[in-house]
Amino acid sequence: MKYRVKQKLIYLLCLLFLAPTLVSGCRAVNHINADVSKDIVVTYSILGSVVRDLVGDRAVVSVLIPNGQNAHEWEPSARDIEAVNNAGLVVQNGLGLESGLRHAIEIARQKGVPLFTATDYITARHIGAGEGIPGDDPDQAAGAADPHLWTDPVAMRDVVVALAAQLKARLNLNVDDRVAGLVSRLDGLNGELAAQASRLPDSHRRLVTGHESMGYFAARYGFKLIGAVVPGLTTEAEASAAELAALKQLIAENNVRAIFTELGTSAAVAEALGRETGARVIELATHVLPEDGSYFTFERNLMQSIITGLT
Ligand SMILES: [Zn+2]
Repeated sequence: MKYRVKQKLIYLLCLLFLAPTLVSGCRAVNHINADVSKDIVVTYSILGSVVRDLVGDRAVVSVLIPNGQNAHEWEPSARDIEAVNNAGLVVQNGLGLESGLRHAIEIARQKGVPLFTATDYITARHIGAGEGIPGDDPDQAAGAADPHLWTDPVAMRDVVVALAAQLKARLNLNVDDRVAGLVSRLDGLNGELAAQASRLPDSHRRLVTGHESMGYFAARYGFKLIGAVVPGLTTEAEASAAELAALKQLIAENNVRAIFTELGTSAAVAEALGRETGARVIELATHVLPEDGSYFTFERNLMQSIITGLT
């Protein structure tokens, strides 16, 4: 009996002393396998997909805002803030898309965490006079900068080229051999989408969307923005009765064939507009990756839904 107690005690002591060694041993192995100082934290899923296409398995890429959640309205948890602070590089969209992360990213940047802002490397589009419906919010008025760069694969190509240079400079991560291939795929995607859009008559290329999200896409493929169910760039604003009446008139005047609803669009408002104007109501995935997680499928689906809706 005594012997068994002694044996148990030895076993417990072994566990007590061995456990930390084993755990730290495991950690050391992890460090060797993946250099955590090169971990890339991307704010939202669509940009994250392109970053993964660029780096392959040479760095760990994680995405903060889960796919399917509204980036305009998302708030980070304590764990998300920790991820930002521990990142080797934070990749954000910019121009106010991830407003809930602004504070956390600014604090991390001040602590020395490198930051890459995609919209710094594109020709930013600004809301033009007469686009959408005028509201009281300065972020949504004519002249406001538009964050929705990802709807245009040519803008995305500019981001990819700039990011590749920053990966080398900031993380000593060389993806030179991968950039050309990705750029050529993005160019090919652009050519494919342009050919599809060109088959749609000019008079059909009129867009009414949930919010003002398709500006880059419209400029690239020759569509005219007629208005948004929720005026302006973000989904935070509520459409007023007068604004909806004005939108109804624009839909009728421009013979708009479809109202495209998005993440955050009021289904009731879109359905009412559709009933009153005869335009069909179609869901458009402008902020959500498809099941395969691919940006290329995302863009093809976007164009396909628009062509189906407007034909
Ligand atoms: Zn948006």
